[in-house]
Amino acid sequence: MDQKNRDKALKILAAVIAGVSVSAAVTAFLYFPHKGIMSNIFRTASSSLASNSADSSAVKTVAAQEQQLHDWRLVLVNYSHKMPDNFQHVIVNELGVEMDSRIIEPYKKMRDAAAKDNITLWISSGYRSPEKQQALFEQEINSYYQNGVTYADAITKAESSVAKAGYSEHNTGLALDLNGVREDFGGTPASNWLQAHSAEYGFVLRYPADKQSITKIKYEPWHYRYVGVQHAKEMNRLHMCLEEYVDYLGKKEKAGD
Ligand SMILES: [Zn+2]
Repeated sequence: MDQKNRDKALKILAAVIAGVSVSAAVTAFLYFPHKGIMSNIFRTASSSLASNSADSSAVKTVAAQEQQLHDWRLVLVNYSHKMPDNFQHVIVNELGVEMDSRIIEPYKKMRDAAAKDNITLWISSGYRSPEKQQALFEQEINSYYQNGVTYADAITKAESSVAKAGYSEHNTGLALDLNGVREDFGGTPASNWLQAHSAEYGFVLRYPADKQSITKIKYEPWHYRYVGVQHAKEMNRLHMCLEEYVDYLGKKEKAGD
């Protein structure tokens, strides 16, 4: 290698090193602010939780749920998880309600199987747009306000009974309220049938009575959520609600399982 070629080789080497450094810097810039934002969100979520809940295990559960898993069937929407802006769904009108097109067939299969066991299933509520959710929320505030509480108290009360826009699982189109929204649905033959068979069609009871401290939603025997057959069966086997299951899978993913 003569002097000229050596210089050329050195220049190329320098350019490569510079290129690697720049991309490392860009990667760091893109990555770390993101981590910073996520940990800020987590701090906000956990501190507000800690202030209104003595249940430290629930706080821990939230801590591990900073990110959504890469599976649309497991999208987590709750008091601290807004529906992701990039969540892709096609909402269609079917059986008199709106829902995600991907759950029509699973639901029909479940309904038909139930019918063979003389159980009638029907949907009372499916998809709700964030706008409709917001309207419900405002309605709730007004009804408290008209009953004589301060506006601030009306908001607090409404927050505990109706989800804000984007924070209801009905905004995903993957949740269905079945057979009317009735407190006494639990224990009926239809409810018992669902408990025994819904997982075979990919649906789980989303707000079980014994998971209220985690879901922060009272027992809703009528509210079923599509997660796919495999996940539904696994959730039942592990006796986990969606918050716990997403946390569990997230940790497993991190551990490289
Ligand atoms: Zn519901």
